[in-house]
Amino acid sequence: MARIIHTRAQRLAAAKLRLRRKTFDRTTREVSNDIQRIILGGVDKKKGYTKTAKTIALKHDLPEKQAETIVKTETHEIRGVMQEIDFEQSDPSGKAKYRWLVISDSRKCEICEAVGKRSKNGVNLQRLKEIIREEKIKAGMKNLDYEWTLHPRCRCVAQRVFK
Ligand SMILES: [Zn+2]
Repeated sequence: MARIIHTRAQRLAAAKLRLRRKTFDRTTREVSNDIQRIILGGVDKKKGYTKTAKTIALKHDLPEKQAETIVKTETHEIRGVMQEIDFEQSDPSGKAKYRWLVISDSRKCEICEAVGKRSKNGVNLQRLKEIIREEKIKAGMKNLDYEWTLHPRCRCVAQRVFK
């Protein structure tokens, strides 16, 4: 099967367009956009979380710990959107199945567990997004702009199911 290869830079550029709509909790649109710009730059240049978090903490007067949570959470969302673009391009007919892979560590949460359970046999990409949204609402998560990040510091990811 022919597979379209897109460079990381192309996927990042496409992700930027989709990310424009998303805002963080507890910040204004302006601050959110600026933080997002810094984080995207960090992802682009493959800077570490700590370095990017320090830049943000300094510029926006945030505690470093909080800045680090924002960087980790937002970077996860950026990677999720890039992966979504990759999935869409490698499966234009939308027939492929995906599941939510729960990264088993101390931070794993009930939302991810629930999404993992409901998608364990594989669902299409749109359905997976719906399940994520439903479980976030059920858990009382306010920020539904994050489509691939279910809770702060989430590390769980979508995974294509091959049968
Ligand atoms: Zn998670």
